[in-house]
This record gives sequence, C-alpha cells and structure tokens, in this order.
Amino acid sequence: MTTEKGVEELLDLYLRKVLPVMLKRQYHLHLVKGGPDYPHLSEQSHLTHIINGVMGLCRLMLFLIATGFNTSIDILKKAFALYTIHEVHKDKDVEKLGSSEFSVPLERLEEEYEALGLHEFAGDLDPHLMRLANVHKRSNKQGDLLLSEDPDAAKIWLLVRIADTIASVRTPEEAASSLIQYLRDLSPQFVEKYTLHYHQIKDVRGVLTNALHQAIASELERKLGFFPLLFFASGTLYIGPSQVKGATDDLISQVTKQIIALLTQSGSADDIRDGIRYQRYDFQRYVLSFASPQELLEVIYQDTLAANPEHKFAKQEVSELAKKRKQSLESIEKRYGIHITDSPERRAFNERWFMARRYLLYADSVLRDLAQLTKPKDRLDWLLRVFAVPEPYASHTREDVAIWATGGIGKYVLIVAYHFLTGADFADRSAEELPVEEVLKRLHNKVLSAIAQLNVAAGKQAIVDEIGFQQELMAYLGEVLFLSFAPRAALGDDGLVDYMTKKGKGQSKRICSLCNRASRFNDEIRTGVLEDSGRVFSNRVLPAQIAPNENRYWCPICHMEFILRKRAGMGLPSGADYANSRRIYLYVMPTYSFTPLHLRLFEPLLRPFHQVTNLPVRDYGRDWGLPHHWLEQRTLDPEWLRELQDVLEREAEKTARLGGQKFIGERLSLGRVQGQPHYYLITWQKAARGQEQEGAGENNRIATRTEAWAKAIFAAAIIHGLTGCKVYVTERPYLPVTDPDDLKPTITLDGPPPALRAILNGQRDAISLYGRERGARSGLERVLDLSAALWVVTAGLTPGKDKHVSARLERLNTDPLAGAFFYKEYGREHDGASPQSPFDMACHVLLQTQGGELMNLVEQIARKSLEIALPISAPGRGKARRYELIFREAVSAMRKAQQSIPELRSTALGTHHPSDQAVAELKTLTAGALLKGLQRRQESKRGDIVVRARGGELGRLVQEFVDIVVDELYLQRAKGNLAVFLQLENQVANGIYYYTDRHIGELWNEYKQQKAKANLPSGVEQ
Ligand SMILES: [Zn+2]
Repeated sequence: MTTEKGVEELLDLYLRKVLPVMLKRQYHLHLVKGGPDYPHLSEQSHLTHIINGVMGLCRLMLFLIATGFNTSIDILKKAFALYTIHEVHKDKDVEKLGSSEFSVPLERLEEEYEALGLHEFAGDLDPHLMRLANVHKRSNKQGDLLLSEDPDAAKIWLLVRIADTIASVRTPEEAASSLIQYLRDLSPQFVEKYTLHYHQIKDVRGVLTNALHQAIASELERKLGFFPLLFFASGTLYIGPSQVKGATDDLISQVTKQIIALLTQSGSADDIRDGIRYQRYDFQRYVLSFASPQELLEVIYQDTLAANPEHKFAKQEVSELAKKRKQSLESIEKRYGIHITDSPERRAFNERWFMARRYLLYADSVLRDLAQLTKPKDRLDWLLRVFAVPEPYASHTREDVAIWATGGIGKYVLIVAYHFLTGADFADRSAEELPVEEVLKRLHNKVLSAIAQLNVAAGKQAIVDEIGFQQELMAYLGEVLFLSFAPRAALGDDGLVDYMTKKGKGQSKRICSLCNRASRFNDEIRTGVLEDSGRVFSNRVLPAQIAPNENRYWCPICHMEFILRKRAGMGLPSGADYANSRRIYLYVMPTYSFTPLHLRLFEPLLRPFHQVTNLPVRDYGRDWGLPHHWLEQRTLDPEWLRELQDVLEREAEKTARLGGQKFIGERLSLGRVQGQPHYYLITWQKAARGQEQEGAGENNRIATRTEAWAKAIFAAAIIHGLTGCKVYVTERPYLPVTDPDDLKPTITLDGPPPALRAILNGQRDAISLYGRERGARSGLERVLDLSAALWVVTAGLTPGKDKHVSARLERLNTDPLAGAFFYKEYGREHDGASPQSPFDMACHVLLQTQGGELMNLVEQIARKSLEIALPISAPGRGKARRYELIFREAVSAMRKAQQSIPELRSTALGTHHPSDQAVAELKTLTAGALLKGLQRRQESKRGDIVVRARGGELGRLVQEFVDIVVDELYLQRAKGNLAVFLQLENQVANGIYYYTDRHIGELWNEYKQQKAKANLPSGVEQ
C-alpha cells in the first residue's frame, strides 16, 4: 500500500533522476503546445508539460491516499514513466508508421525510455503499454490495451491520461470539466462523495491577487474541507464535497477581514516615514491604518533626534501671538509661566525645548487621529494631566485653547513642553545639563506609557472605513470573484456611467487612473506608496492630453496593492528617489498551473531572488558576468543552470554586504511570498538617489529606458530558462490583461522600446520558444545569444557604460554585419589588437545570428582576396587598411571605371539594370586597374601585403575576385545601384576585416610551409 510519504519520495526520486536527463535531452527547448503549430494555445515546453503532469498526479494521489484510496507504488511508477514518454509522437524526428500521428515505432519509444533512465526508475515495461501512452483519446488506437500483458494496463493508462489532462488544462474552468470523468473512472469516491470545484478571479494585479487567492483557499479549506489541487494564475481548482450548502454566505467578508488584517499589520519604520506630513506634523491616513501609536512615535522620536534644533523658535512663535493679541511678551510669559529669552546661556535649554515641542506636535496628532480626541480641548486636557502642568498655567492654557489651536495644529504643546522640561521629571538634574537623547527619551517614555492606556482600536477602524479599503474590497470581490459552486451574476457598484462620460478639462475623480476602476473612495495617488510620479502616469485607455497640476486619483484596490508591495519588500529602498529610479516588473506565471509540490523545484532556484540579487552584465575580475558565462557554452543545460545559480548567489551575497534590502543600485528581487503563490512577481530595479553624482570611470547610476528593457528582457529569458514559467514583462504598475491564458508566447513584453527589435527577431512584443522545431535555435536561446553578445560588446567598447547599449542596438538594427563592425571597432580602439574571449565570441554570435546571406558573400570575397595576397597581420594602426586593401582598391577602381562608361554614369541612380556589355566593360576596367596596382606592389616589394600569385595565375584570381564583387555584390545585392553599393562598402569591408583577422594566422602558417617546401626565399619578413 502506498503512503503519502511514499508518493513524495517517488516524486523526489523522479526529480533527481529523470529531470536532469530531460534537460540534457532539451525537453525544455521544444514546444508541445503553442507556437506556429498550435497557435490557439499558450506555449508550453515539453519539459513543463511533463513536470506539471507528474506534480499534478502526485498532488491528486496525496488527496486520494488521505481518503483511503489504495494503489501500489509500482503502478504509480509505471504511470510516471509512461507519462514521461507520452509526447514522443510530437517529436519531429520520429518517423511515423502509416498516416496516424500516433503510430510511433516501438523502437523509438524504447530508445527514449532507455535514454531518460526510466528503465532504472520503473523497470521493464510492456511495449504495447508504451505505445498506448501516446494515445490521447479513447480511440480505436487502443488496440494496444488489449495486446498488453500487464494486468494493470487499464489503470496505468488512466493515470497517464489524468496526468496529461492536468498538464494540458489552461484554466480552472477547463480543468474541472476535463478531469472529472477520468476521476470517476479512477475512484468511486468521485461518483458520490467528491467533485471538482474552482474559484476564479479574472484580474491579475500582483501581491493583492495572490493574497486574495490564498485567503479564499484558506476559507474554503477551513469551512468546507476543500482540497486545493491546482493553482492557476487566475484561480484554484479544488476537490471538495459534492454537496456544498450555504458556503458562500460570509466568504467575502471573511476574506476581506483577512486582507485588512494583512494591511493593518504593523509596518516598518520606512513605511511609516514615507507617510509623514512634515508641514502638518501628522501622518497620511493610510499609515495610521497599519501603524500603532507606539510605532509612529518611535519614528518621530528617531527623526526628532536627527532634526536640527532651532533655538529661536519660541520667541518667534510667542512674538507672533503677542502681536495678534496686542499684548506684551512679558505678560504672555507670565500668564503661562514660560521664559522665551533667546540668549547664549539659554541656548541649550531652548534646543531641548524645540525638540520636545516637535515631538509633542506629532503626539498631539496621534491623539487626534487614533485616540479620537478630536477636540483640541480634550487633547490639551490629556496633555496637561499627563505632564502635570502646574496651576494657574494649566487653567490659563485651557482658557486660551482656541488661540493656541488655530490652523489645526496643537501649538499649545509649546507650553506643555516647557513645563515638562522644568518640572518633576528633571528634579535630579536640569534638562539643559542632560544630553539631548536622554531628555527626549524621558519624554518619549512618558508619552508611550500614557498612550498605552488609551483605546485606539475604534480610531483605527474609523480610518480603515474612511479610506474605504473594507467596503471597496468587498465590492471588488463581488465583481471579480467567481465560485463554480455558487454561481451568481451580481454586478458591483457600476462605474460605467462615469467611464462613458466625456472627459472634461480635469479628470474624473471617480475613475482610477491606474486600473480604470470606479469608486467613491478614489483618492489622490500617494506618490510615496506608488513610487512613481502621480502626475504624468496613467494606465488609462483614454489618457488625458496634458498632465494635470494635481496628482491623479487611484482606487483603494490599487492603493492596497501598492501598500502590500511595499510590505512585501518590493518598494524602492529608502533613500532612493522614484524620479531617478527605473523599475520593470516580471510576472512569473505558471504554464499552465502550479501545485504546492512545485515549490520543491522552485524554492532552491528562486532562493537568491528572495534576497536581493542581480544579473551582472559585465565581468569584475574573476567574477564573470552572466553574458560571459552564457557565451562560453551557449547551452541551456544543467551545467549552465548551476553556473547561473552560482552567479545569482554570489550577487545576492555581494548585495547583502552592500545593504541587502536597503541597497541602492541595480537589483533584482522577488516579493516576499507566503504559502503557495499563483504567480511570482519579480522586480528589476535600478534604484537611484535624488542627487546622483557619477564618479569618473563609473557606470551610469541612472538607467535609461532602453538599458532597463535590455536588462529586463535578458532577465526574463534567464528566469524562463530557470523555471519554465511564462513571463510577462511590464513597466506598468498593473497587468493590463485580465486572462493570463490570453498570453500565448513564452515571454510577453508590454511595450518595449522599438530599439530592441533586433534582439526580438522582428517580433515586437514577444519571445517565443519556437525554433528547434524547424531545426534552428529556440527563440529563447536566440534571445540569450543576442543579449549576451550585446552586453559583452557594450562593456568592451568605448564609451562602455550600460546606457551606451542603445548605440550598439542602433547598429544592430541597421547593420546585419554589426558583429564585424564591433570587432573592427575593438581593433581601432586597441591599436589593431585582436579581441579576446568573450568579445570575439560575442561578435561571432552576432554575425552567426544576424549576418545571413551577406556574411556568406563577405566570406566568399574575403577568401578570394586572401588567395590573391596575404596581408601582414602584425597589430598596429595600419591593420585595417592592409586587411581591406584589395577590396577597397577594387571598389575604387570600379568607381573610376563607372565614370568612364557613359551608360553606367546614367544608371548610377539605379533606375534600370545596366546592360551586359556595360557590365563586361566595367569588369575589364576594374580588373585591369586592380591587377596593375598589385603588380606594382609586387615589384616595389612594399611591406603591406604579400601577393601570392604571379603572371597569368594572378590575372585569373583578380578576374574571379572582380566577378564576385560585381556580380554578387553590385548587381545582385545592390541591384546595380551604385549608391547602394557604396553604402555596402563599409559593411563588407568590416566583414572582410573580421574574416581575415580570424583566419590570417593559419593562412600564414600554410603559406610558410608551402614556401619551405618549394624552398623559395621568403619575400617579406612577417
Ligand atoms: Zn485602481
């Protein structure tokens, strides 16, 4: 009998043994769903398909075993093994028997079975059973079922079908309907007792949506005993009792309660600091919703200690009052029992007074907002009592409270602070004799112990109500939450009318500028929470023409999302300025579903992202950047994954030393997640301070948009390679897609800058995995190749800061031989030296990927040129001239010849194709001039090049060379247009330089050996 532990151990064994072999056999680089072959489906790799099915089957087994279902571990093993080869019929290399897609020869299946190590895992298998696994439907192809000798054949087949269905369903809804019949076949429990249910939220926001999914699942588990089976980006599939009654009565309010509890959990000091309103000595309302009075005052205590005390403040403030009341300073001093003299000997006291007053102003607002002492008189009473302000000064202040509380700020604390500093608390030693810290500490402790006596729960609740979090969340859930077991068609507070209304000059307050949600609780965007400009930003489909002067409005749902993001550690590090910082979000979503068992796979992989890490694009000494690592192997195999993991961990350690979460700079991190996420949210940031000064030779601290996207695309490709998950990349704070299933490609990009088109293979906003299927590299490898090469080239040339990637992209977009251009550029910058690894590899990759036919032609020209003459290969300034000499001279001879042929003069604009006769004349003149030049060099023995042939042989070679240049380059490629031809000249020359430099060494060796054999004196010293 199989136990839960047995199933988990089997899964571990499978992941340890079979997964690495699948990676080696590139299951992760072939599509079984999506791509041009299945365009209506989201892309899913063979590997993900297998893993999801295996995990899903295990998850199902865990439930079944817990409810008394009995099966042998042997059957399960066989089902795993068979399922692993069930898609082999989609392998393009497999020759089919007959017309059916499923008629896969058994030898092929056996071979794959063996290669994957399944033999070791599950032992011998009946070959008919093997072929059976490839049959997807209950079809007449099940002849194998009858032929199989395995008594458990039918059950194994059923388990394979269940695994396949689990891996193939894209939404909870599809899952529920496709799976149920198989489950009924498997266990009678599904006939009477259990069935499949699901909940769905067709809105992907980020941290909030994950929190909602979890809260819903926990409620359904707790109240109804639901068992979550599969997790989709938009919902959860459960196994639950067939009869569900009255289950949903208070589901929404319970879920809302859980989320509000999350929001009102205490926050960090930085969260609080973000919400301080310095002018008004209080806090933004949302801060009060989560922070306790103690936490708020702790921050104020720290900030006050750091503040610069003004010793003249009291005199100024009282003088103003005296002026208004037409009283003398002395009479005011006397009435309240204070001394405001500002003299050197009073200075120490006045500074302490200033600080105590500053602290008490905030304490007063906390009393007002959280303890609900809304009347100044009540707060003053409280303060006078706590600080035991002596009579008659207390009574006088009480009488004058209206004057001291004008403008909503409790200025009466000036008097309270004075009496505190001169009162019983400093009977031992006077305040001015004690250090400032000590004085303020005494004040802080006194206030804290007094405030602890107050009840602030009601005040907090009132604030939560006022912000509208609770009401809005309930309304939102009413709109977006769908429960399969309690269908309803209730619509939320309908904002359609506001939405349809034509936009006036300003903006409609009732429409959220981020998500278009209508709500009466919409409020001005808190830039401190959104960490983006609240003015110009809008996700709206109908954006305003001009940025309004005030901040835009957002809805409580967006507000909550960003509070939760900050709480999850996804905000900017404190000290960073959003105006100078750039952020790109990567939503890492299941293809098509997760199970909690997936965490075993993801957790070790994502560990460095839980800290703050980085994808370094350049080398620092022996610490290679990722592009270098990639270019060394260019294979997405277990070894690369290990190297990648090492780099990510190395960077996480490095960042930890530089401040971890507080590190300001380039960083990549995963929001803190609790429990089973429905997707992960990874943030790429280049955080920068308000005033950034770059040191000489330093990389740019403020990212450009192109740089940010180039890095985010690289990161997305790497993260997909790591996890097999679908990735959505966006700068927007909100996913503008309601149904993740609409995202078909492996990686979807939300509006990347057009400059990146060369990396994206002409596709504007997507990276497909497709490629291997037609014998090329996969789309993913292609992006990794190009990105890696681009970063290596950017770092290796001058100027070489990360932002200069845009110049390199520009070249890549317009020049198919960009790789040769960069290669030559390197030589130009380094006195003709040849680049080393990885720079030369980067150029090679660029030419291989982008060079196409032009590069083939260039190689042809270069080879012929090297047959004619070998240039001296020594580095130095003249290297490029020597390497390109024959080609350049041929082109210049062509230009002269063209001028002397009347027909070609007139066709220079390319209006019509030149006649055969004109072309023949052009070739003759060009070859003649080129030959004459070469013969002169031969005679004068000038040391640039060594002409290898003589007499008739040289003439023949020159003729062949001119034929290629004229026929292939001028007539074919430039279509007989001289202007186009001349534009190509430099590109081709770069290519010749590249080819020559890569081959010159071996050619010289050959030449010298030939010379030695022929025993001829060498013409020129190399
Ligand atoms: Zn919104």
